[in-house]
Amino acid sequence: MAKPFPILGFDVGGTKVAVSLVLSDGTLVSSIRVPNKEREPDDVLPAMVSAGKSLLADAGLNREDLKAVGVCTPSPLDFKKGIVMAPSNLKKWKHVPIRDYLADAFGSRAFFDNDSNASGLAEWFFGSGVGAEDMLYISISTGIGAGVISNGRLMRGVTCDGGEVGHMILDVNGPLCNCGLRGCWEAFSGGRAVAQRLQRELADFPNSAIVRIAGSVENIDMKTLSDAVGENDPYACAVWDEVMERHAQAIGMLHNIFNPGIIALGTIAIQCGDLFMKPLLERVRKYAWKQPLSACSIVPGKLGSKLGEYAGASVALYALHELGEWDLPWTKSN
Ligand SMILES: [Zn+2]
Repeated sequence: MAKPFPILGFDVGGTKVAVSLVLSDGTLVSSIRVPNKEREPDDVLPAMVSAGKSLLADAGLNREDLKAVGVCTPSPLDFKKGIVMAPSNLKKWKHVPIRDYLADAFGSRAFFDNDSNASGLAEWFFGSGVGAEDMLYISISTGIGAGVISNGRLMRGVTCDGGEVGHMILDVNGPLCNCGLRGCWEAFSGGRAVAQRLQRELADFPNSAIVRIAGSVENIDMKTLSDAVGENDPYACAVWDEVMERHAQAIGMLHNIFNPGIIALGTIAIQCGDLFMKPLLERVRKYAWKQPLSACSIVPGKLGSKLGEYAGASVALYALHELGEWDLPWTKSN
């Protein structure tokens, strides 16, 4: 068996950057989180580099030992040029050439992708999708996005915007979405949209269960809603039913398009467990063909809180796989 090689991974999120040292056999050697909330990229980027260097030093590795660097950020981004454009939850990051910055800092090849693709690759290599040829990873968080593995390859599309499933329109007369379209899946069921809807509808109901749990109208989020559903609050349950129906509709549509063997769901599906999975699995049958659905496992992602630690490194591993320098973990020994 070839000796596993080290990769540094960076997963840039709205509140923190997960920096991790991962071996090509899937061993997570170590990781650090660098704060990113309300910080300028000019401050965060050097902190990311020094975190990466300290992980290498602690493991007794030099920069020459490093095979590659992988980094992921929220969309929109310029995949080909390696630039973060202006993601809505990275307000201070505008046109940042992050890939080449990291390549220069580490004197190494660096590879870049969006966080949904990166998470999909991580779940494919090391989580719920091990061995699969066709799988979807769907992140349902503030926004909704997917990493689509089809025929054993990551699907990118012509402009590398493939997988933006949160902006499939479920009802053209539905609520306005951040993206400018109307009735997107994300506008019905994304965390930000649901929180905004609840804040609007409950502004004059300070005694409602949801406001009581949140402490104030401004603090309402998906977690507050799911907690109120856990208390059987009728209003919360009615909203939850609507949100779940839209999830089932969208996931049923995706299922019929891609015919995957696995649909792995991130974030809220992991946080809420059965409260989320049970109504989804019941309702999705209305929207998907029975026979292919019976061949598909719809499950919460396996990597859980470790997903961010694997996401950035998985971007680099996939790029090396495409270059013929790394075999998928289940095909040959690496
Ligand atoms: Zn949209």
